[in-house]
Amino acid sequence: MALLVLKFGGTSVADLDRIRNVATKVKREVDAGHQVAVVVSAMAGVTNQLVEYASSMAPLSTPEQVAEYDTVVSSGEQVTSGLLALALQTIGVQARSMLGWQLPIRTDEVHSKARIEAIDTAILHQWLNNGFVVVVPGFQGISRDERVTTLGRGGSDTSAVALAAALQAERCDIYTDVDGVYTSDPRLVPKARKLQKVGYEEMLEMASLGAKVLQTRSVEMAMKHGVRVQVRSSFDDADGTLLVDEEEIMERRLITGIAYSRNEAQVTLTGVKNIPGVAAEIFGPLADAEINVDMIVQNVTENSDATDITFTVTKEDLQNALRALESKRDVLQYRSIFTDENVAKVSVIGVGMRSHAGLAQKMFRTLADKGVNIQVISTSEIKVSVLIPADYLELALRALHTAYGLDAKEEA
Ligand code: ASP
Ligand code: MG
Repeated sequence: MALLVLKFGGTSVADLDRIRNVATKVKREVDAGHQVAVVVSAMAGVTNQLVEYASSMAPLSTPEQVAEYDTVVSSGEQVTSGLLALALQTIGVQARSMLGWQLPIRTDEVHSKARIEAIDTAILHQWLNNGFVVVVPGFQGISRDERVTTLGRGGSDTSAVALAAALQAERCDIYTDVDGVYTSDPRLVPKARKLQKVGYEEMLEMASLGAKVLQTRSVEMAMKHGVRVQVRSSFDDADGTLLVDEEEIMERRLITGIAYSRNEAQVTLTGVKNIPGVAAEIFGPLADAEINVDMIVQNVTENSDATDITFTVTKEDLQNALRALESKRDVLQYRSIFTDENVAKVSVIGVGMRSHAGLAQKMFRTLADKGVNIQVISTSEIKVSVLIPADYLELALRALHTAYGLDAKEEA
């Protein structure tokens, strides 16, 4: 007998029939003798609708308004937790819902993107020990000043992993509309393969670089607490992908996956003075405006006291970034600003980069052979990212997938 946390995403609970389907999956684990805590998302589309209600009512620019936003948008999960408890009772499984504030799931006060600080599992354990399935709405918690908070979009993954950590669950199964984590996006790379296992760190890079299977924070949480997370489909019974410690992965591969994002925009400042402190002056106003800068390159031109700086921000942040830079124009004294939104970021990820030379070079060579121009490069310990013209995205992904030996074998 084990204690399992099962999490079902929005598409898995999109209507009553799907919630019934979820109930039978939960029942199967109960019948196998396990204790089960379930975390649910809101029905697909509901959170978007709630966000729209709230933002149509008020601009959500004051802290007080953002707090009420949380009250509104957290309600979608409450509905599904009650519905699933009902569906379970209907098929003879003892079940009850317990909302974030009832446990409670304590968070900080940062409304709309709160962080979980502690989960009280005492009552939960009590009900689990009494043979009940407990259904907990994801995405929500309660702050120290007793107000409902939400964890940021996609936050129920984090709720589930946090609950699994707090309960010291054997495993956290995240049921979703894909059947696992792939070497690349199968919609763009037909030869992408499902990974049986993936290390936390690699998954963290994949999630933050655009593979939208799990909320990035949930992966951080899993890594920190060593929670075994399985990503699997709620629409078939195939094994999914298991997130585990790197050491647990026997078949060691150098490169694990190729991720991409179409959500970057490139900004170039030309004619920036080539003296100490300039980068700080440029990125200061962006940080003040809460804009995350991702990739950065600075060009050094020979015999010149001026240089160009190129960096990327998300497409949503682009206009704010330009406004912030233009307002500081007399200090920064750049000649001009160029932007390019027609770009995509492609990232090659693998822990093999720590110990093997030449993996980045293989990326550059492969792209060069396909005539793909690289506009910006950035690296970390286990990934290399390049910014390329968006039109070349599919070509680049497929070529890299083949070059690193990730392609699925043809069926004979
Ligand atoms: N319902 C919330 C959202 O759409 C949380 C979640 O589904 O993970 O962001
Ligand atoms: Mg999700």
